[in-house]
Amino acid sequence: MTIPFVDLKQQYARLKPLIDANIQKVLDHGGYILGPEVAALEAELADFAGVRHCIGVSSGTDALVIALMAKGIGRGDAVFVPAFTYTATAEAILCLGAAPVFVDVDPVSFNIDTADLERRIAAVRKAGTVRPRAVIPVDLFGLPADYDALTEIARAHDLFVLADAAQSFGAQLDGRRVGSLAPVTATSFFPAKPLGCYGDGGAVFTDDPELAAAMRSIRAHGQGTAKYDIVRLGMNGRLDTIQAAVLLAKLTVFEDELEKRNAVALRYTARLGDTVTTPTVPQHAVSAWAQYTIKVRDREAVQAALKAAGIPTAVYYPRPMHLQTAYADYGEGEGSMPVSEALCGQVLSLPMHPYLGMEQVDRICDTLIRAIPKAA
Ligand SMILES: *Cc1c(COP(=O)(O)O)cnc(C)c1O
Repeated sequence: MTIPFVDLKQQYARLKPLIDANIQKVLDHGGYILGPEVAALEAELADFAGVRHCIGVSSGTDALVIALMAKGIGRGDAVFVPAFTYTATAEAILCLGAAPVFVDVDPVSFNIDTADLERRIAAVRKAGTVRPRAVIPVDLFGLPADYDALTEIARAHDLFVLADAAQSFGAQLDGRRVGSLAPVTATSFFPAKPLGCYGDGGAVFTDDPELAAAMRSIRAHGQGTAKYDIVRLGMNGRLDTIQAAVLLAKLTVFEDELEKRNAVALRYTARLGDTVTTPTVPQHAVSAWAQYTIKVRDREAVQAALKAAGIPTAVYYPRPMHLQTAYADYGEGEGSMPVSEALCGQVLSLPMHPYLGMEQVDRICDTLIRAIPKAA
């Protein structure tokens, strides 16, 4: 029997009456664009994250673009970004004409290496062709980046910190939720993310009233106080009302789901810790466990053995950003990001979702342990 990598069917079975009723309400009132569910969701999400402002947007990618636009980042600006991330993080920077500057990641957390960040800032300053303006740390696989260190570096170099929390909504650092750890946080509600809708969706979070107002305006074509009063460059970046209705239903079980993800992760680590390199979560952090990602040697053989047993796996990501064709002009080629490059050859993500039974986790672990080539 095949184990789903992410099981949205079980979640729907649990929430069907509420999700169906919420969608039906939208069909009845007909406010498909920025209807009442969007504002209701924004209020609940802001409250959940412990910030003043949440703005629902069309995707995690647009959330990043809108935040950078609100900050006026564009041509001539350098934006630091980890080389080991999903393409959307770097894409948002290039879409605005700014220059992505890749930074290597930490070999344990897989998040941005703050020592390397400082080296890259110094190098950009020395070259003098673009001006350091912002850093986009990514909370990869659900674990928050080191925001204490990042905040200090940002202060020293006058950088704007935009958190890419597409995979970490629900995670915590020192008892503070993701959304409140950086001046602006962007997240995604892509269906497979920890909190997902039934299409594309995202949100930005901030405590800054001016940035909040700018982002709210940008998501609606740069609208001012009246509909056809256009005060700045914007885009069509709104969250659909139906997606907000779905998210309102899913938010009722989100904390429970986060706990269940955590229990799955703990079981994986207890079973696999002696066999492969398992993820570590610092004492003061709580991961949202978007992915459970191990490091293995001979990855293809392990993947094939798991696949043969009906266990799907995924490689996030097979190639670092600086070696992607689209970003080649912004990188220094092979060897310039040794940790990111090594991770791309070793990482393997196992099935992870709140409805994974412990007997399924054990079956995955048994199969994996058998598949790992024994060290001589
Ligand atoms: C999913 C993801 C995004 C983009 O989110 P979309 O909603 O798909 O646009 C951005 N960054 C990271 C790290 C992601 O995992």
